[in-house]
Amino acid sequence: MMSNHERIRVAVSGAGGRMGREVVKMVLGNADFELAAAIDPTQAGRDAGETAGLKPCGVTVSDDLELALVESRAEVMVDFTTPQSVLENVKTAIRHGVRPVVGTTGLSPAEIDELDKLCRERGIGGIIAPNFSIGAILMMKFAKQAAKYFPHVEIIEYHGDQKLDAPSGTAIKTAEFISEVRTELRQGNPNEHETIQGSRGGYYNGFRIHSVRLPGIFAQQEVIFGAFGQTLKIRHDSYDRAGYMPGVEVAVRKVSGVTGIVYGFEHFLD
Ligand code: NAP
Repeated sequence: MMSNHERIRVAVSGAGGRMGREVVKMVLGNADFELAAAIDPTQAGRDAGETAGLKPCGVTVSDDLELALVESRAEVMVDFTTPQSVLENVKTAIRHGVRPVVGTTGLSPAEIDELDKLCRERGIGGIIAPNFSIGAILMMKFAKQAAKYFPHVEIIEYHGDQKLDAPSGTAIKTAEFISEVRTELRQGNPNEHETIQGSRGGYYNGFRIHSVRLPGIFAQQEVIFGAFGQTLKIRHDSYDRAGYMPGVEVAVRKVSGVTGIVYGFEHFLD
């Protein structure tokens, strides 16, 4: 059981990855958390602090998740790994009563349902969130609020040129949020014609989503509402992976208070 007087014992799965290294830094820098274990196949044997670019912390990176979770008596496992390994990692954690905090993308709705069932059977909770950025969540919530009053909307999202999917998961999630309150309305001129195909962007429930892909960009999104005589722009800019860490920190603290899988970080924000 977690208590207010004890530090939360956190295992980091994918500790050698870009996000995992940030999580290790966040955990080591937080007086309420203790780095119980670090797991990453390619970094095994190294000191987790050094892997994250800090001084040695005395925790050796392991390549055996199950053993590391059991031996370290971890209470929470933060997973930023790969779509191929995340399902098995989370099942292993649940089997040992370790609460999962999952940022890895790619789990299907059926897999999330299965993990929810396993969590409930074990009597523990977990969170799976495609976006841990508090600013991005607020941007989506504000866009949903605005869409009630301004049904004419377009989304422009900006990411690095190596991103594989378009539009981004955040843009799709924003479009879903907006659609919850906006009655479907086909915007623009019904006789509109694209001289160059794709110029008007992707179509979603009557409005458009545009994906910009350029080197030098990390992750940004603009939601633009238009009405007679005015526009309203809601914009969020991410510059660094460290921007996700306040959200991961909140999730590690709050995950002990839920049962089953919570999907989406917005449910952990008041
Ligand atoms: P990355 O740099 O490739 O890191 C993944 C790390 O996990 C690698 O070091 C990898 O090792 C390791 N790994 C692979 N299989 C493992 C296993 N079975 N057990 C433990 N570690 C394992 O990727 P990233 O940029 O950190 O992103 C990780 C994931 O987070 C992606 O799915 C990404 O989309 C997602 N993400 C989510 C958010 C959010 O807010 N939720 C934000 C950013 C990114 P190898 O190199 O040996 O494969």
